[in-house]
Amino acid sequence: MVAPAVRLHALSTGSMTSSRGGFLDGETGEITYPVPVFVIEHPLGLVVVDTGLHPELAATTARLRKLASTFDVHLQGDGSESVGPVLSAAGYDPGQVAQVVLTHLHFDHTGGLLELPNARVVVQAREWAELHNERLLDLGAYNRDDVDLGHPRLEIDGDHDLFGDGTVTCLLTDGHTAGHQSVRVRTETSVYVICGDCCYLRRTLTHEHLPPISHDRDRHVYSIRRLAGEQAQGATLLFGHDPQQWTEIVRDGLHERV
Ligand SMILES: [Zn+2]
Repeated sequence: MVAPAVRLHALSTGSMTSSRGGFLDGETGEITYPVPVFVIEHPLGLVVVDTGLHPELAATTARLRKLASTFDVHLQGDGSESVGPVLSAAGYDPGQVAQVVLTHLHFDHTGGLLELPNARVVVQAREWAELHNERLLDLGAYNRDDVDLGHPRLEIDGDHDLFGDGTVTCLLTDGHTAGHQSVRVRTETSVYVICGDCCYLRRTLTHEHLPPISHDRDRHVYSIRRLAGEQAQGATLLFGHDPQQWTEIVRDGLHERV
């Protein structure tokens, strides 16, 4: 079987600043980083991986509840930087997005879902179940209003080949959260893995330098090593919030080695 032509594009919905120690346990200072979303052009439909920040965060971080003071959100106040307008500016129709793969349900990966009204949501079942975790909801890490919007939903359990042709595959990489997943994308020329927050930064991978908080630290390490294995087989890893790699992506485009 010849795999169909697939293209991958990276876009960012604003950026954030927070404590560097929140990404790399024990470090000090602050870090400013992108909030990426990815577009996969597949002959059977447009796929978006993660949906970035909620447009309301441009004006107020109140919806982040107890985390409101933890994150400094940089999002244009004119509404141009949430996922819908960002997709439009890149030449895509947000209404034509057929599927949204959510790596996990943290607010900076789900906030733009309301702007993709016709998509099916693809999420790990064990991640969706966390929407009943009152502690996480109270904290503000998860926001039911971001994601429980009536979209059709495919809940999966483990790895899943989205089109049955090997081009777009969800990879269970839990540990950062209960049901975190990464996404492997095979284009005509390259293999990429969208890491999500399994690896915030390149350093998370190279030094197994974890954040201070994981849902399950042992599973997190296991999943980081799984992504290292993908890299060892030739995949280019796209880290969750790596400002240096993002600079390279913007400079070189995504079809170059990054
Ligand atoms: Zn996260």
